Amino acid sequence: ESVEQMIDRLCAKIPDYPEPGVLFRDLTPLFADGPGFKRTVEALADAFDGQFDCVAGVEARGFILAGAIANVAGCGVLPVRKEGKLPRETFKQSYQLEYGSATLEVHTDDLPRGSRVLVVDDLLATGGTLEATGHLLHRAGLHIAGFGLVMELTDLRGRAKLGGHRVRALYRV
Ligand code: 5GP
Repeated sequence: ESVEQMIDRLCAKIPDYPEPGVLFRDLTPLFADGPGFKRTVEALADAFDGQFDCVAGVEARGFILAGAIANVAGCGVLPVRKEGKLPRETFKQSYQLEYGSATLEVHTDDLPRGSRVLVVDDLLATGGTLEATGHLLHRAGLHIAGFGLVMELTDLRGRAKLGGHRVRALYRV
């Protein structure tokens, strides 16, 4: 079974969540499956072939992936958090979500400037979340090694917001 087939089999589709008309793709069954999670993590690490110094995960589902990918690659993790969670000086970036708006933060000095950071999340929809994350990393003097996703909803054209950077999604729908 290919990693794409595993993702397809272990993704739950929830109609009308979190609001009417939205088909939510829930990847928690994939994360809960040992072989499914392992193959997903390894495929994302492989897609960027060691060309990164740290893995940034976007709260909260991105954290699950970032720690595991970093462990496979032998590097560290950078948490990109929702507003008000980080205790030291941060950069903040607000953005539009598919359903509302939000603010993300990153510590200004967790990593040396110039570090190459792979950014991961479970799913790319409109691209607002990863675009905001890219801005934060840029402000912290970091180099974006690329964006790694388990799933990409291609109709929403989120990739266009991540212009110029390498984007790899294991499953595109
Ligand atoms: P975007 O900012 O690209 O519109 O939305 C992506 C963010 O919202 C990601 O952090 C992702 O976890 C979450 N998200 C939006 N739609 C879905 C969905 O259908 N399934 C999952 N699992 N996450 C979603």
